[in-house]
Amino acid sequence: MLTGDRPTGALHIGHYFGSLKNRVELQSLGIDTFIVVADYQVLTDRDSVDRIPENVHELVLDYLSVGLDPDSGITHIFCHSHVPALNQLLIPFLTLVGMGELDRNPTVKEEIDAAGLTAVNAAMYTYPVHQAADILFCKGNVVPVGKDQLPHLELTRKIARRFNQRFCDDGAPVFPEPEGLLSDAPKILGLDGLQKMSKSRNNAIMLRATADETAALLKRAKTDSDRNIAYEPAQRPEVANLLLLASLSSGEPPEAIAARVGSGGSGTLEAFVTDALNEELKPVRARREALARDRQVVADVLRRGIATANEVADAKLPEVRAAMKMDYEM
Ligand code: ATP
Ligand code: MG
Repeated sequence: MLTGDRPTGALHIGHYFGSLKNRVELQSLGIDTFIVVADYQVLTDRDSVDRIPENVHELVLDYLSVGLDPDSGITHIFCHSHVPALNQLLIPFLTLVGMGELDRNPTVKEEIDAAGLTAVNAAMYTYPVHQAADILFCKGNVVPVGKDQLPHLELTRKIARRFNQRFCDDGAPVFPEPEGLLSDAPKILGLDGLQKMSKSRNNAIMLRATADETAALLKRAKTDSDRNIAYEPAQRPEVANLLLLASLSSGEPPEAIAARVGSGGSGTLEAFVTDALNEELKPVRARREALARDRQVVADVLRRGIATANEVADAKLPEVRAAMKMDYEM
């Protein structure tokens, strides 16, 4: 399995319910797990690199605090900037996709809009191809993702298929076609109730936020003027999102929570979500605080993860070159 995140900030509850919980579950099933810290991908929409080191640190702390565990020997956390053979895959992969395909990607369009970019660099259009390299270098065949990633995953599947068709005429396919694994919460909305919760859109509750900060943020969450709380995702997305968060935290169905809040209005709902969410995140936050005391922990995790990723990528690249008949020295 492969998943990952951009080091653009600490992770939020959208990541937690949308992807991290799934990753921990797969780890507990004994599935070999690569987690990419997609540092090059930050450069698609940021000019400054100043915050990247700290963001990488925070991101890895978030991973460890939710229960991703490199000591298991099956979970490997690495930065793709440190794995040269992985990045080499990008070159042949770019020959397998058309400009039109890159230009039509709906998630890329949305991200360009959301970031308000006036000049768009080429990496913004090609990062989904880079992501295919992240997934395919380790033969990832399961990819737990949020809904925004589905167009990218579809492109990865095409790249795998096209590579195999074009270059593997006489042998077994070099790449598997990966499957996406959507969680029960493929798109958590932000506190604005409008767009997906995102690190970069100032609408998120961070995993590392304190219980009080969480309460304050939820007080400001957008709801509507109907005092009677009901679970109607299409008609009342803001209220439905809060009910979903309460449900994911407490394990109770959103309809049942709505029935209990009844005519209590959004204030009662917000209090309910706050308690449920803070309860769910309590152990995560406690672990995070303990881990944050020793900066060396993160460095060790990355050193080990990067070493493993390089071993895997260094073994994969010759296979790829051989399929492309570029294994001259053999
Ligand atoms: P940025 O705003 O910097 O792009 P982000 O919040 O979109 O940050 P990413 O690192 O781009 O986070 O996404 C990492 C993973 O988390 C992806 O698999 C994505 O689908 C998932 N994810 C992100 N936001 C949400 C959300 N609101 N709900 C569910 N899943 C999400
Ligand atoms: Mg994103």
